[in-house]
Amino acid sequence: MNRILTLLAAGACALAGLAAPAQAADLTLTRIECGTPQAPVDVNTRFSDTYSLSGLKLQFVYSCYLVKHGDEYMLWDTGHAMTAPNVAPKESIVDQLAKLNVKPDQIKYVGISHYHGDHTGQVSSFPKAIVLIGKGDWDAISSPNPPQGVNYKPFETWTKGEGKVEALALDKDVFGDGSVIVLRTPGHTPGHQSLLVKLAQKGNVLISGDAVHFRENYESDGVPAFNFDRAQTVASVERLKKIAAVLKATVIIQHDKRDIEKLPAFPAGAN
Ligand SMILES: [Zn+2]
Repeated sequence: MNRILTLLAAGACALAGLAAPAQAADLTLTRIECGTPQAPVDVNTRFSDTYSLSGLKLQFVYSCYLVKHGDEYMLWDTGHAMTAPNVAPKESIVDQLAKLNVKPDQIKYVGISHYHGDHTGQVSSFPKAIVLIGKGDWDAISSPNPPQGVNYKPFETWTKGEGKVEALALDKDVFGDGSVIVLRTPGHTPGHQSLLVKLAQKGNVLISGDAVHFRENYESDGVPAFNFDRAQTVASVERLKKIAAVLKATVIIQHDKRDIEKLPAFPAGAN
């Protein structure tokens, strides 16, 4: 009898184990202000190659994100440099992290959506971090003659071999438990990436990078004329839409002002 009870208990435990959510209990996602928005701009010329945004004016915002996983931290994107004219954030990422009692050396990973200046400006503040970047973007940053538009300078620590880099050719399960996944979404740049965070309470959150820049482009498959590869962009947006539908994810477009409110206002975060 005892043995049967033990077996039953073991079975129940195994079932409970199977049913347990994949996400770690202690997972927090916090938005960090990573630039100063300028006046709304007409987006039709630069951000749609099908002339489909006639008359649309939008204000771009600049967002980075802190992921707390147990006692480990990942930063997603590093925004504008503090020296960027007009658009520099009023407060550095390091100063904002201090308000959360997080020191720069505690950042284990810096995930980079792509190599543009408004996503990489403050990466040099985190020399101890492992940089998770798409291989195509890393190849451009570390090439002897980086192409125009590749913000390679702040990556000196890593291009000189003084810091660790993982140049990702595929998706990356960052903490190994399926809770935070860097997604390969090329097109805007050769190695562009997006981020999936599986929060216990809020549910799944999909952070775009610049796979799209605002809601209208996400909905209409609009592609900026300056993107690296149109076909890859369309395929990546299709992938994001499919993931969002299957996982019922909240989609957060990093440059879209209307998406800021999808997360609590700093210093609060979503769990
Ligand atoms: Zn970009």
